[in-house]
Amino acid sequence: MSIAQNIETIRQDLPASVKLMAVTKQASVEQMREAYAVGIRDFGESRIQDAQSKQQELADLPDLCWHLIGHLQGNKVRKAVQLFDWIHSVDSLRLLQQIDRVAIELGTSPNICLQVKVLPDPDKYGWTIPELLADLPEIHRCQQVKISGLMAIPPLGLSSTQTIEFFERVRDLSHEIDQQQQLSFQLSELSMGMSGDYRQAIAAGATIIRPGSIIFKHNA
Ligand SMILES: *Cc1c(COP(=O)(O)O)cnc(C)c1O
Repeated sequence: MSIAQNIETIRQDLPASVKLMAVTKQASVEQMREAYAVGIRDFGESRIQDAQSKQQELADLPDLCWHLIGHLQGNKVRKAVQLFDWIHSVDSLRLLQQIDRVAIELGTSPNICLQVKVLPDPDKYGWTIPELLADLPEIHRCQQVKISGLMAIPPLGLSSTQTIEFFERVRDLSHEIDQQQQLSFQLSELSMGMSGDYRQAIAAGATIIRPGSIIFKHNA
């Protein structure tokens, strides 16, 4: 299967309201050009370095939208704010506040997803539900960034049904938070769903899916 065919397969299951971001951390710039040729404009990278070199190599392509999906260290916040339109992996209040300060300095307003852990998961970063609820007043004060939604990755080993339930829990959490009065943001985006579970994520209300290997794997 070609990259174009892989993308077409995903699009067949994709409601018009759901954005397809192609995760390119294991893709070459040539492969990214193939994805671009069939209309992909949103690319997800997990490392700053990789994104930087790919952005240079793809500088001739207009209207790309770059998404950071990997854990961000404090000392790379400035670079991240310079390189990315979206940061999906904002996993602590401290990091969010750093991004907000840098965004003020640079005069930009990156879109932010807050990464949450709605099930215990020692392998992942992110707010637990009680931590996120407790931090809401401070999050509310970060007004330079555009806090746009929640991001989540299910723990390994869930069944398909449990995976849907996991994603529904994330959706419900975003609704609960949006119902709170006097917050300065609305969590309208749900960034969830990778190659193995994007169908379950769509069923639970994902608005941005992040498949990677299913698009690029047969073409390495
Ligand atoms: C790697 C990665 C993806 C894509 O994973 P695939 O299994 O290749 O689809 C999506 N989201 C995040 C946060 C990732 O790190």
